[in-house]
Amino acid sequence: MGREEKSEETNQCDKCGRSDTETTWIYACDACNKEIDTRKTYLEASVHRRSDVSANRYYFDEWKCYVKWLSKFKPPKGMWFMSLPYVQKNELETYKSYIRFKK
Ligand SMILES: [Zn+2]
Repeated sequence: MGREEKSEETNQCDKCGRSDTETTWIYACDACNKEIDTRKTYLEASVHRRSDVSANRYYFDEWKCYVKWLSKFKPPKGMWFMSLPYVQKNELETYKSYIRFKK
């Protein structure tokens, strides 16, 4: 959802005249709206419906933002499941700090 088209560049070949369009996207965190540096690790969640092949995708710059967003998330009509962001090895401890384990 936090994705916008930044620019579209059309390159045309001088020899054959074929053109090809390159689109650059900018990603913004769905919780704090800050621009996400996609060269670094970012979090992505997707919400799927049974009736729809495509999913709504949400982007976050950090776990704190994801947790904040999730706490306010209201399932859209027809929601089937949500895929959670992948947990990178170096983020495991951060992730655990946001999850409360019951004993
Ligand atoms: Zn954020």
